[in-house]
This record gives sequence, C-alpha cells and structure tokens, in this order.
Amino acid sequence: MSAIDDLPPLREVIAAHGLTAKKALGQNFLLDLNLTAKIARAAGDLTGADVLEIGPGPGGLTRGLLAEGARHVLAVEKDTRCLAALAEIAEAYPGRLTVLNADALEVDPLAHLTPPIKVVANLPYNVGTELLVRWLTPPAWPPVWDSLTLMFQREVAERIVAHPGGKAYGRLAILAQWRAEAGIAMRLPPEAFTPPPKVASAVVRIDALPAPRWPADPAVLERVVAAAFGQRRKMLRASLKGLASDMEERLAAAGIAPTDRAEQIPIEKFCALARALTP
Ligand code: SAM
Repeated sequence: MSAIDDLPPLREVIAAHGLTAKKALGQNFLLDLNLTAKIARAAGDLTGADVLEIGPGPGGLTRGLLAEGARHVLAVEKDTRCLAALAEIAEAYPGRLTVLNADALEVDPLAHLTPPIKVVANLPYNVGTELLVRWLTPPAWPPVWDSLTLMFQREVAERIVAHPGGKAYGRLAILAQWRAEAGIAMRLPPEAFTPPPKVASAVVRIDALPAPRWPADPAVLERVVAAAFGQRRKMLRASLKGLASDMEERLAAAGIAPTDRAEQIPIEKFCALARALTP
C-alpha cells in the first residue's frame, strides 16, 4: 500500500510484472508516488478534466493523476509488458482509466476526449519534441487541450521557455510562446528516475491562450522561423533571402534591420514579418 492509494508500491509492481527498463523505449520510471502526485498537481485542478497521458509505464504518474481527482485518464502505452500493471490501476479506479496499447506517434487520442482536456506526461525523450510540436500546431487555434504539463530533458525545457538573446531561443520557444504561456514548473535531478538518465529533467507547463498574442498566418510564420533559425548565425537578409525577392523591404516593413540575426528577434517581430510576407 502506498501513501496516495491502496495499490502496492511501484517497486513491487515492477518486480511482479518483470518491467525491467528498456532504453529503446526511453524507460526512466518515477517510483516516488509523492513526486508523481506533485507533477499531477503542477497541471492544476484536475477534477472535471479529461487527461491524456503518454507513456504511463508501470503507472506512477497515472496513479498520481487519478489520486489528484482527474475525471478520466486516457493513457497511451506502446510497451505491452505494462498492460497488466495498468489494468490493476483501472480496477482500483472503476471507469476512470482507459489504456490504449499504441504508439503515440501513430494515434490521435485527443479526438476521443471531452473538454476540458489536459495533457500530462513523463514523455519518452525520443518522441517528446515531435509530440510537442504536433500539439502546438493543430489545424485551428485554440487547440482542444487547455494545458500541456510535460517532462523533458532540462536542455529541451530551457529551449521551450527561452527568451530572445540566447542560444536556447529558437523554433520551440516561438511555437510554445506565440499562442501559449510556457513556464518551468519543476526541476528534477537524474536520481529522481529509475534508472537515472544521463541528464537532468524539468516539467514544463504550457497553457493555451484563447488567441495568438500577435496575428500571423501559422504556415508563413513557420517558414520564416525555420529559415531564420536554420542558419541562425547568418544575418537575416542572408538567411531569409530565398523567401522573397524584395526581402530587405519586407524586413524594413516589420521593423527588422537586415543585419539582425534570428536570435535577437522577439516573437512579435517574427509575426510582423510573417504578415509582411503574406499576400
Ligand atoms: N510515466 C512513467 C513514469 O513516469 O514512470 C514512464 C515514463 S518513461 C520516461 C516513458 C514511457 O513511454 C515508457 O513507459 C515507454 O514504454 C513509453 N513509450 C515510449 N515510446 C512510446 C510511444 N511511441 N508511444 C507510447 N508510449 C511510448
């Protein structure tokens, strides 16, 4: 029995189901249920919300989410070895946990949930950025989710919350901050995980804004940002020259000097440039 529910401690669950961590699946488990409940609380009030969790593994965070009152948790796990352990959690919380045995890159589980929807996950690092970019670029804004509370390698977390003027600032910061509020909610050392990964981690919370901070066509903005940061050391007149024959005039219209570099440009000006490039 653990402090947050009547289920066995995670070490016993892992031993009983033979869940030795597989590196290829990015398996670094959280075994401290007080910590997983704290991560669940970092997502805000879960009562009345549907939660999507990617990669529940043996279910530490899943139990935290359910103990913290999530209305329903949909957990997507690729590793079939974890299913029996997750079934025991579903039994302890009747009707509140659905487990989908699938690759999170192959399914779109958000469509099956009822708003308000929160995404909370200790993501496998090999697919974390890809999933984040998908969630941040839905066909329409606001997205179906209210917030994303996600574990990343600390270096990726720093890129998501970065401001102009440093090496961490780039496409991820712009994607996350143009139409959402992004902040680091918690920092975790490698020892918080079993087995410990090589790097430190951080939980990032991203709250969707009802509308973008500044208007811009998402596809044009994405093209500008990709070109600007694709050659981040170059001056913008060089890195962006392929986007328009009169690029210097468009830069001037957006209030950007042609000699500026991508790293210095705030999101507001990238949006102005996207507008200046939109027919
Ligand atoms: N949530 C658990 C915890 O906090 O202890 C496990 C986190 S572990 C970092 C990542 C989990 O994602 C593993 O259980 C792994 O099997 C699962 N996983 C890896 N790739 C996946 C994918 N493409 N789709 C769904 N689950 C995946």
